Amino acid sequence: MPYIQFLGAAGTVTGSKHLINTSYVGDGTKGIQVLIDCGLFQGQKEWRERNWQDLPIPAGEIDAVILTHAHLDHCGWIPRLVKEGFKGPIFATAATIDLCGIILPDSGHLQEEDAAFYNKIKKSKHEPALPLYTFDEAETCMQYFQVVRIGETRQISQELSFRFVRAAHILGSCMVEVTLTTDGKSRRLLFTGDIGRVRNHTVAPGKVVHSGPTEGETADLLVMESTYGNRQHPETDVRPELAALIRQTVERGGSIVVPAFAVERTQKFVFMLKELMESGQIPRLPVFCDSPMAIKAVEIYMKYESEYSEEARALLQQYGSPLAWPGFTFAATSDQSKKINEVHYPSIIISSSGMATGGRILHHLSQRLADPKNTILFIGFQAPGTRGATIKGGAKEVKIFGDFVAIRAQIGVFEQFSDHADPPELLEWLRTFRNRPEVPYLVHGEPAASQQLRDTMAKELGWKVEVADWMQRVSVE
Ligand SMILES: [Zn+2]
Repeated sequence: MPYIQFLGAAGTVTGSKHLINTSYVGDGTKGIQVLIDCGLFQGQKEWRERNWQDLPIPAGEIDAVILTHAHLDHCGWIPRLVKEGFKGPIFATAATIDLCGIILPDSGHLQEEDAAFYNKIKKSKHEPALPLYTFDEAETCMQYFQVVRIGETRQISQELSFRFVRAAHILGSCMVEVTLTTDGKSRRLLFTGDIGRVRNHTVAPGKVVHSGPTEGETADLLVMESTYGNRQHPETDVRPELAALIRQTVERGGSIVVPAFAVERTQKFVFMLKELMESGQIPRLPVFCDSPMAIKAVEIYMKYESEYSEEARALLQQYGSPLAWPGFTFAATSDQSKKINEVHYPSIIISSSGMATGGRILHHLSQRLADPKNTILFIGFQAPGTRGATIKGGAKEVKIFGDFVAIRAQIGVFEQFSDHADPPELLEWLRTFRNRPEVPYLVHGEPAASQQLRDTMAKELGWKVEVADWMQRVSVE
């Protein structure tokens, strides 16, 4: 009997990897083995170590990968899969492939840097420490990607076809509708990947991409994310509050430092700053986007105008590419980056990594954290144990480049920028379903989040929902 198996993002939010296996065990029939997503485990060591484990089936026996979107926790294990012998097609939308083209090599580069660091301090259990994959290996795997248009049906084998439908999470992001036909019986399997906010500008302002996941779905088996299963986003418009905080910082002569992921979050924030400036809600401050990856990401965004929200499209039609906006500087080289340190008038500095775990943001924080005139602004999730979480949590000091830096700057936190639907939004979307899935499974959540969403769905929809376990197999009857 065909089955699916949860190889990642079960009990945690990272490492998304779901196997569909249609092989008939024992009777010798050659079925097909397909991975939906192939993400990296991130965060605590216990999870990261799983990146080094083999899959339950050899990588070379997997026939294809279908990729929902370009976040590392969904695509970041692809170079490793290829390194271990996978040679099949990787199906994704054109925008996802373009984004993977910058994100995966960057990830390879970081893996190499980490390995070099551990070798220097000789702390690795493996002697010498090795990268999970290298920059070059990540670039090599790009040859396996194949573009699939949104809405197009792609037949992978006699029994399995799929279609991408919009997830509205980040540029290029999609859900995967799989149709499985065996023994004359057809079933629909829906893998949501990450689900974006509902179509509503007040509660999800500043969206850069298409707003709202595709409605009116049907599914016999549903595999759904549950990242925000136990939290709700604020329903207030972030703009007036954000504008006030920026104005106050400028009035006292300070700057605003924003740790942000280079893809999506940075673009969304830059678009919102432009809107606030043009409408006179904030002064025309210099804005520095200090990330080479953010520049490449903007270039990719400019290729996919059809994916924009109405708001973003109108803004770009009027003002053109952010790379050419007056007062907005995108720093590509490290010299350009260092020059920002010399800026002593109020400005806005956006840089990565988004949780201040590394990257150029560290220079800006070490320069500006100790001055009470400045503001550090958090617009993204800060995982426990990261520098970002320490600063956001109200600590008095934080260690950067081996030294403790006093935290005297004002700390601002906005939760409205999330790209994940919260429980009321998920319910709103699920209520548009044309049937009740017989087998709904929750993945991509911390246990407490998944369990609470399971209970909420039971109460509000009357659906019997299971929380997926790591390595659990589910038969597709
Ligand atoms: Zn994502």
